[in-house]
Amino acid sequence: MSAAPITGGCLCGRIHYTIDRPPRIVCHCHCRMCQLAGGALFLTWATFDASAFQLTAGRPAINESSATGRRHFCADCGTPLMMTSTDDPLKVDVTLASLDEPDRFRVGHNIWVGSRRDASKGFDAELPSHLGEPDE
Ligand SMILES: [Zn+2]
Ligand SMILES: [Zn+2]
Repeated sequence: MSAAPITGGCLCGRIHYTIDRPPRIVCHCHCRMCQLAGGALFLTWATFDASAFQLTAGRPAINESSATGRRHFCADCGTPLMMTSTDDPLKVDVTLASLDEPDRFRVGHNIWVGSRRDASKGFDAELPSHLGEPDE
């Protein structure tokens, strides 16, 4: 895997980030909260060490989407960017689609498939599916 920095940001360009290590795991999340937060059938998350992640421009707004979950998004254009948890401050989930090169990493899992929508049931169906979070 290339050691080139991983970069990304939002639709309007106000927020940019850089990441200096490859993801631990990449998952399509079919949970209901991701569906609503993304306005999409699922969100695809790349999970990184929090210490590898750095904002280089702008500052996302934060939605407390659960007791421990924090969804970081651009308040100007709405792009969902990151997810953090007060339970595990050592990791950060980043939306794969917000990377400048989303094709650089392979998706490995479908998670929270109990709320997977009919319209996406055939998508990447060969990947392992989990009712919750997989072991990393
Ligand atoms: Zn933006
Ligand atoms: Zn989710």
